[in-house]
Amino acid sequence: MDHQQIWELIKLQLSTQLAPSKMGAWIEPVSPSLENNQLCLSLPSQFFIDGLKNDCEEKILSALKSLNLPHLQLEYRVDTSIILFPETQKPAPSAKKIDGFIDERFTFENFVVGPSNEFCHAASLAVAEQPGAQYNPLYIHGGVGLGKTHLINAIANQLAASGNYKIAYRTGEHFTNELIDSIRTQKTSAFRNKYREVDILIIDDIQFIEGKQSTQEEFFHTFDALHKAKKQIILTSDRDPSAIKHLAERLRSRFNWGLVADIQPPNFETRMAILKSKIALAGIDLDEDICFLLASKITSNVRELEGALTRLTAYSKLSRKPITMELAQDKLRDQLQLQAKIISVENIQKTVANYFNIRTKDMRSKVRKRNIAYPRQVAMYLSKELTKMSMPEIAEKFEKKDHTTILYAHRKIQKECLEKSDFKQEIQRLIQLLKQG
Ligand code: ADP
Ligand code: MG
Repeated sequence: MDHQQIWELIKLQLSTQLAPSKMGAWIEPVSPSLENNQLCLSLPSQFFIDGLKNDCEEKILSALKSLNLPHLQLEYRVDTSIILFPETQKPAPSAKKIDGFIDERFTFENFVVGPSNEFCHAASLAVAEQPGAQYNPLYIHGGVGLGKTHLINAIANQLAASGNYKIAYRTGEHFTNELIDSIRTQKTSAFRNKYREVDILIIDDIQFIEGKQSTQEEFFHTFDALHKAKKQIILTSDRDPSAIKHLAERLRSRFNWGLVADIQPPNFETRMAILKSKIALAGIDLDEDICFLLASKITSNVRELEGALTRLTAYSKLSRKPITMELAQDKLRDQLQLQAKIISVENIQKTVANYFNIRTKDMRSKVRKRNIAYPRQVAMYLSKELTKMSMPEIAEKFEKKDHTTILYAHRKIQKECLEKSDFKQEIQRLIQLLKQG
């Protein structure tokens, strides 16, 4: 891999972990090079190096680790010849009257709705249809990587497309820094006027202003001016207003004036649906079984789920190999927390019985009804395939007199696997359940 490829892969991973504003601010200006065991990152000034170190160094190091390049050390350099294109000079946002960086990929169409987020989704849609009319402010809160930023960008994108609104989009951090800057350069009134002129004010991660008195003071006045004029305010936070401890009481109460909506981690079905949607968007192929593995193992948040997919895609592109189950298990070992599980016959009997909805003790019975005999044969087959036990030992566990029953079952299931692909898939899914469950 050359330095460009390495850097592209690192960027791919960072893009799933960092806010677009941070990607734009610190990662885009980097010019990479490779010298011996050093990955040199050149930036236009020390200011950029400090920002990059602060916000991204850890993530870059862990990306290097996951790319099997932990020996590479990071080195930073100032290179004043690097030219910057500030976000505000990009043509798209200015043409659409957006002040701030909006991610155009985050739309309502690309947002998968499930029980965990339907309330926030409906509220966001309502606001995008009729801003300032009913939920003002709209305050969305929830844990990291659950889709808050996606939803507010979807609102912004829809409103921007209508062309009727002046929109300001900020992170809590950006808003704070801008205010501090304006105080330093004695331009506070310009700062104030700018925000009071907008139709829509969106602030992502408002919890950042916790404990920052002057920012809260300024935000309070902006909030009141906009609210009085029936301009829409949209906020996100990792907590509900009462859990932001160092927040002026008058702001806390205002955050509750409109609608406070929380977003929860998605359930299995929603995770599957999100994965499939991301796969379709990326235009890649991924087996149902691998989707199943990712969606059942990566449960805490969507960003991680997406990150896993991105990593797999990157590996497969680089190595020009298809994404197989082995590749997934190998490359995502940490995330999937796969353990080499010791599989016992008892375990197989229980899992197979559960899977087919019969009682575990039926595994050892003499009942010949197909709905029981068939799962029993599957369990026998899996016992021979997945344990080190001999056939007579397995026969004992199934309370059979001799091993010919096991031999017969094994042959029969093996034959069916060869003949019917849906049958084979069912067996594979069971094996997967046993190995990971
Ligand atoms: P948050 O702001 O809550 O930390 P983000 O909005 O940044 O989370 O979401 C993290 C990633 O997960 C984004 O890439 C986003 O597109 C994706 N995501 C989250 N929820 C959904 C969903 N319901 N449908 C599609 N993508 C989602
Ligand atoms: Mg966010």
